[in-house]
Amino acid sequence: MYKERECFLCGRNGADDPLDKHHIFGGAYRRKSEQYGLTVYLCHARCHEKGRHAVHRDGEVMRWMREYGQRKVMDEQGWTVEEFIREFGKNYMNVPEDLAGAMQQLHLLQEETEDPEEPEDKVNFILTDDALPY
Ligand SMILES: [Zn+2]
Ligand SMILES: [Zn+2]
Repeated sequence: MYKERECFLCGRNGADDPLDKHHIFGGAYRRKSEQYGLTVYLCHARCHEKGRHAVHRDGEVMRWMREYGQRKVMDEQGWTVEEFIREFGKNYMNVPEDLAGAMQQLHLLQEETEDPEEPEDKVNFILTDDALPY
């Protein structure tokens, strides 16, 4: 069934703030993220790069996102934590919540995000995605 593309964190459709594809595990694991479908769409400014709780600015959001990704791929592939670590190098599940709990935590954090208006962003250098899709 066709579903309109929307931001994983806030559900906006990209009309005002174009959606970027974010790899949950970047760097050396970028290709594996792609392979296992561990990518999400995020509002370019608000949720990906510039908002207070954008994933590349807020370490807490990043951590929850990775925990979500780990739970998702373990679920889908039937992996144990050890098997996940073999593929992605590290365990990100630090809390007892389940997949739904991780999702809820992400959405709670995102609800506090205002739309980024102030151009006080000295943060572009922390971007880890090397090829944004636009
Ligand atoms: Zn968003
Ligand atoms: Zn990203």
